[in-house]
Amino acid sequence: MNILLCAAEVAPFAKAGGLADVAASLPKAWAVLGHRPLIMLPKYGHIDVDNYEIEPTQTVISVPVGSWTEYARLWKTKMPDSDVPVYFIQNSDYFDRPGIYGNPDGFTDNDRRFLFFSRAVFEAAKAIGFAPDIIHAHDNHTGFVPAFLASFYRRDAFFARTASVFTIHNMAYQGIFEPRRAMEFSGFGMKSFYRGSWFEHGGAVNSMKAGIMFAEKITTVSPTYAQEIRWTKFGEGLQDALESRAADLVGVLNGVDYSEWNPVLDTHIPLRYTPDILVRKDEVKARFLMRNGLPEKEAREHTPLLGMVSRLTAQKGVEMLEKTLEDFLAKGLLRIALLGTGERRYEDFFRYIARKFPRRAFVKIGYDTPLSHNIIAASDFLAVPSLFEPCGLTQMYALKYGAVPIVRATGGLADTVEEYDAAKMTGTGFVFDRFDRKEFRAAMQRAIICYRFQPHWNQIRQNGMARNFSSEISAANYVNVFSWALQKIGVSADKE
Ligand code: ADP
Repeated sequence: MNILLCAAEVAPFAKAGGLADVAASLPKAWAVLGHRPLIMLPKYGHIDVDNYEIEPTQTVISVPVGSWTEYARLWKTKMPDSDVPVYFIQNSDYFDRPGIYGNPDGFTDNDRRFLFFSRAVFEAAKAIGFAPDIIHAHDNHTGFVPAFLASFYRRDAFFARTASVFTIHNMAYQGIFEPRRAMEFSGFGMKSFYRGSWFEHGGAVNSMKAGIMFAEKITTVSPTYAQEIRWTKFGEGLQDALESRAADLVGVLNGVDYSEWNPVLDTHIPLRYTPDILVRKDEVKARFLMRNGLPEKEAREHTPLLGMVSRLTAQKGVEMLEKTLEDFLAKGLLRIALLGTGERRYEDFFRYIARKFPRRAFVKIGYDTPLSHNIIAASDFLAVPSLFEPCGLTQMYALKYGAVPIVRATGGLADTVEEYDAAKMTGTGFVFDRFDRKEFRAAMQRAIICYRFQPHWNQIRQNGMARNFSSEISAANYVNVFSWALQKIGVSADKE
């Protein structure tokens, strides 16, 4: 199959969260499975073109917007360590500035930036002669892609046999825009905007809803989240739209690129290790602590290190930690290594913890990929106490690195972490159900007890390291969804 993946983030070029990792790992896996993937993303001002050998092409495309035309130049490279082509849409007005979304409040022209990109994807595919069987659009930024295909492009012979699949990574961000500006710019015009139309929700344009309504198939990133968004408040107001497409909505668990996240191969960490030589993992931890200023004797004490690598937002459940963490640190029951950025109040909380416990809390407010690998490799536990979690990647990384996840049973966390059973010696982590500080505290206590007792401590780590959440499994599941999408438009799927 020819698979055109378009997304606002693709690692390593531009990344804010898990979307970037998945948009990067899936195409690599499809290529291994014998398909022909191609990636498109905007050319943001902060992308390091020299480092990734991104070159301008001679191709300039015309992009119809509103009642006029704008232009973009295509730039090109390949995914690192693979032959998957990557095209960047360059337009100075929309993308020549640092940042993907302009957080925390978002750039004021995000409607136009991402509508322009969504439309440019079609013009670019045509210009380079890549006729996709599937256009795979991700999250609200590309929510208009299925709408453009269904309404404007399928009548073009070039796209007549193309189906769209829309993947929801997070319902909490929907791309909500002022109708007049967005509808005119999209080319649909205000005639397509009315109460209950496929673009409308709560009186505003809703890009996520457009993606949900127009795509042949809709996926979300874990089976549990696929249920939660239909039935609970995690649908963030779009439960009815999702319910109306329930027959076409599937949960496909995200996968991990194990060439990137693997303690046997990882070049970011000082020592490589396998499940049979966990003493080496303990050595990685000791070195991490020494690098952070602890004398050797203290660094080698038998005290668990709790890691956390996360956007610091309400979604991630930082408030679960607040009291428990302070208590446990005061009693010397654990140490913490945190890497994250996000909301000011959460950043301030961790700064306060770092000041209060300088020898027990290692906090970096910022974004740092090598450090994220080091924290996950050095940690004994990884906390992901999320309020909601579409899939979550860090707990899957943690499992592979022998860091035991402590998670709330929601979304993909419920699908990937299993409570440890000391009698049977099965399970991979510690799981709590309700978003409740006491439950989190109890899960932390179970983890600390397990840490103290062999053979359980080695067993739980080995159980986790043996789990396989490879992106190739995920990629193969997507190919099935793609075949169903093609069947929907009456094209028999060629699984090659
Ligand atoms: P989300 O997509 O909701 O942010 P995921 O767990 O799916 O959560 O993915 C988060 C990704 O972003 C992981 O690859 C994680 O390592 C990375 N990440 C998050 N915060 C940071 C940070 N401050 N520095 C480096 N990487 C980070």
